[in-house]
Parts: sequence; structure tokens; C-alpha cells
Amino acid sequence: MCGIIGITNKKCNVVDKLIIGLQRLEYRGYDSVGIAVINGDSINFKKGAGDLDTVMKRLSFTDLSGSTGIAHTRWATHGGVNDINAHPHMDCTGDIAVVHNGVIRNFASLKLELESKGHKIKSETDTELFAHLLEDEEKKSATFIEALAKALARIDGTYSFAILYKKDPDKIYFAKMRSPLIIGVGENIKAIASDLPALLDMTKTVILLEDGEFGYISPTNFEIYKLLPGGGYKKLNLEQITLKVKTVELTPEAASKGGYQHFMIKEIYEQPNAIRETFEGNIEDPALSKAAEIISSSNRIFLTAAGTSYHASLVFSKILAKRAKLFSYPIISSEMSYVSSTFQKDDLLIAVSQSGETYDTLQAIRDAKKNGVKVIAITNVLGSAIVRESDFSLYTRAGPEIGVAATKTFLSQIMLLEMLSAFISHERKELDKNERNKILDYLRYAPNLIQSSLEASDTLIPALLNLHKKNSSYILGRGLGVAIAMEGALKIKEITYLHAESYPAGESKHGPIALVEKDFPVYIVSTSDAPEIAGNAIEMAARNAKVIVVKPADLKLELKEDRKSIYFADMPPSNSIIELEPFILTPLFQLLSYRLAVERGYNPDKPRNLAKTVTVE
Ligand code: GLU
Repeated sequence: MCGIIGITNKKCNVVDKLIIGLQRLEYRGYDSVGIAVINGDSINFKKGAGDLDTVMKRLSFTDLSGSTGIAHTRWATHGGVNDINAHPHMDCTGDIAVVHNGVIRNFASLKLELESKGHKIKSETDTELFAHLLEDEEKKSATFIEALAKALARIDGTYSFAILYKKDPDKIYFAKMRSPLIIGVGENIKAIASDLPALLDMTKTVILLEDGEFGYISPTNFEIYKLLPGGGYKKLNLEQITLKVKTVELTPEAASKGGYQHFMIKEIYEQPNAIRETFEGNIEDPALSKAAEIISSSNRIFLTAAGTSYHASLVFSKILAKRAKLFSYPIISSEMSYVSSTFQKDDLLIAVSQSGETYDTLQAIRDAKKNGVKVIAITNVLGSAIVRESDFSLYTRAGPEIGVAATKTFLSQIMLLEMLSAFISHERKELDKNERNKILDYLRYAPNLIQSSLEASDTLIPALLNLHKKNSSYILGRGLGVAIAMEGALKIKEITYLHAESYPAGESKHGPIALVEKDFPVYIVSTSDAPEIAGNAIEMAARNAKVIVVKPADLKLELKEDRKSIYFADMPPSNSIIELEPFILTPLFQLLSYRLAVERGYNPDKPRNLAKTVTVE
């Protein structure tokens, strides 16, 4: 999830404005930055790894000058964090410069094709390939717009692009597909950016571009075209454009939270897009089948992680058992050292960490390596510590998460791990290729389900806030539901400071049910692998608990006459596809904990005693 910006005006140097724009976009990624400007008859650029302040000091961006320029702050998805992979990326001739937010899914095949045609690809990014594709199409096209349309037709995935083309020195070309892109319309200045805060210092008049739109801006003009199915395109007329123009009255600060009150709620609502990026960014990456091969040829599989990542690992473990018939050992990272003496050669450790810097997880990796155990890292951050110390890595590519309580990164980890488990099941011959692809097709649909789940949750939350009137609650699950329940309880504890306990529902009668009294909230997380959880709901209702059953709407539970005293939080249907249930059931708990925290007067973005990345023992 990078930030892109482009500005063009008649005479003034745009570099200072680009730098302000980058500052406003830095929340979208900050592992490298770059700027390109057109000056006379050449495109000049500077770029490097590091955050904006560091790279500016190192490369002095202000030496660049030009009245048309583009800039980028990167959150790497393809290719490590280094100067070469930083954007902008150039074609072979130096006539075209590209900055990009998103992932090009068919990058592997494009790279082979472009290299075989003699293109010199300098970086490991997916983005650079687009500059070379444009170079090819430009030679065969009457206009650069035509070349852009043809190049866009060649790529799959998500993108917003800002492009400089030397032969049109006051224009910035752009294109959008599932990554945000907004045009800022000033009188003698036009700009495009990933997000409003980067534009609001220049103009309050904006156009929120839609998927499939592309075109150019120049100081006094802009044109928008629409890609058509089958590869054609058409220009939007004045009336269509006028309908799109909006005036916004937000401050840059309010706009950086997308108009939301907190980053946490913004990140909850951006989950459909973030999880789509996880899918698109990995589905054609050969790393997924390579990881599946390594896992399938290993002896015992250990999973290690902390907090939310541990809960994602529990989901993985359950799905692996069900689909791949493969047993794995999930162990909390800080507990790993007490069992690491049992590691054997040919065991494998899969370490999951959003930041890739989690101290305990890193220690678990070191223990494994000491014992000759191979390690696969699953993380959101390219080049992070666990990547450097592992043998192989996979990336969730969900973009930076600013809220301390993990939300989108949980579901993005689950997405990646479930994709991986489909590949493992195929590798172990538990699923044939069609069956594997069917699971992947369901997963491709998960972002839509998250969207529906968020909408259903919004409707249900007011009633739940009324039911949740005690200082303590239980959140119970069975099978897959245990992991979802654990994540729900963690969210509530982290940001509302109310006690919430989760445990496998079958354990109730071995102790915890003793605490249950009238109106004690008990959430029953019901998944299709464990309909027998109905019995636990009945046990709790019989003790006058406030029982709230959270389930896919189409899951039938044997509850009969007890139904009346039970509150049903019916979420979108799952058709018993177990892989989809975390996406359907988790958003309710995220939103519930957020609303509870706000109702109790706490700032969910800054929970007390917590930090986003835990780099201490
Ligand atoms: N895929 C591009 C890269 O890795 C852009 C990253 C993004 O926008 O997430 O450089």
C-alpha cells in the first residue's frame, strides 16, 4: 500500500509541493521514497530506501527542479527494500517514469516475456515491468493514451499509476484499478494522489476516480477515459466528468484518517481492499507453491507466533488438519524455548509476525535455526528481521497498519495462510487441481464477504452494546471457532479494558461455568465444523447468561425451545465453506470492541500499556 502523487503546473517548481504530499502520504508506507520531474527534455529522478526524512537528507531532493513531477512513498510488496526497488521506475529509454500503488498479479510471466524481448529489468519489483510494457506499446501506438490503454489490458491485479512521458512534458498520465486515486483540480495546477490529505493544500475540488479509469492531467486540463471489456476504451464526456467533481471541506489531518475518527476504524473498513491485495499479490507468486513443497516434505510442522498472529496460526492449523490432513503444532513464541530441545532435523518452523520484528518470534526462529530446523516466515513487512533470519518468506502485503490493535493484518494473515493450505493440500494429493482452484476461488470472494459482514455487524452492534453490560464476558468456540473467539476476546481486552475470556466451549463444565450468573454475556462463535456448540449455548442459557450466538446465517443449530432466550447475531452465509468463516465472523468482534471502547471514552488507537511492535522479551 504505497502513496503516490503527481503535480503539474505552468511555471513553478513542484518539488516542495511533492515533498509535502509525501509527508501526508507517509502513513501509507515508508520504506523508501522517490521523486521524478521533467525538466526540459529529460526526466530526472532521485530515489532511495529509508523514510522521507532520511532519504531527503541523503539525496537532497530539493536539487531536483521541474514544473511537472511524480513522487512515491513505498510499502514494498514485490522485491526487497533497497534503493533500486524504490520508485519511480524507468523504461529502457529513460522516456517513461512510473510510480505505482498495488500489485501486478501476472508479474512472473510478464517478466519472462519482457526479458526475452531484450528489456533490461533493473529492479525486483512488479512495477518496473509496467514501464517496459508502456515502452513496447508506445512504439506501436498513435498516442500515449492508446499505449497506456494497451499496456493496462496486459496486466492483472491492482494499481494506481502516475506516469511521466518525456514527449508530453507538462502531462502526468494516470490509471486506477482497485487502488485509490484522486484528481485535484486547481485553476492552473492539477494533481493526482492516492489520498485526499496530499491534495488539500492545493485544492478542495476533487474527482474520486473509479476502477478502470485512466487519462492525463496537465496544468489547465485533464481527460478521463474508461477501459471497456474486450480491450477498448472511450473518453468520458463533459457531463460525465461534471457529475464526478466534488468539493471537500476536510482538513488534511482529518482526511488522513479517511474522515474516520480513528485509524482503527479506518483499518477495519479497509479490510476488503487490504485482503484483496493479499490475494492478488500472492496468487501468481511461485513462492506459494514453493512454500507448499517445503512444508509437505518436512517431518513435523511447528507454528509459532504471538498475539493476533498466534490466532491466525490457530486458524491455519485447523484448516491444515481438515483439508491437508496434516497435523501441526501451534506454539506461542514466548513458550517455544521450553520445547525447542525436542526439535529434530527435517522439522519445519513457520513463524508468523505482522511486523516481522516481534522479539519472541525472532528468538523462536533462532532456537529453530540452532537446531538445524528450516524456517518459513510469514510477515507483512519485506526485509524485516524475521525475513532476514528465515530460509523462506511469504508476505501478506496488507499495507501498513497504524492502529495498535491488529485488524486488517489478522484477516490478511488468514487469507495468505489459507491460500497456502490450499496449495499444501494439493501438494499432499488431498485435493486435485480443480478442488484446489475451487478453494482459491472461494478465497477470491472473501473480500466481498468481509464487506457484507461489516454491513451486518453495523446493524447488530447497537443491540450488542445493550447486551454487553458487564465487566466480564466469555467468548467461546469449538474447532475453528476457538481461534476466532480468542481474537475477539483479545480485541475487547486490548482497547476496552473490559475482561473477556475465550476458551474451547467444551471446557466450560471443567471450571469456568462456575462464574456464569444472570446476564453474564457469553458469545458463542459457531462455525460449520462444530455445530455441536449448540449444547454449550443451551448450558449457558440455562444459567441465565446473556447468550449471543455469532454464526453464518445459513448454519443450522439444534436449539429448539431455548431459542427464545438466545440472541442471534446472524452474519452472511458461508455455505459451510470453513475457509470463509473467519472472514465472516471476525469483523463483528472488531467493530464491537471498537464501539465499546469509544462508548467508554477510550482512544482505541492508543491502548494503554501496549505498543504496535513488541521488540522486547
Ligand atoms: N508492488 C509495488 C512494489 O512493491 C507497489 C507496492 C504497493 O503499492 O503496495 O514496489
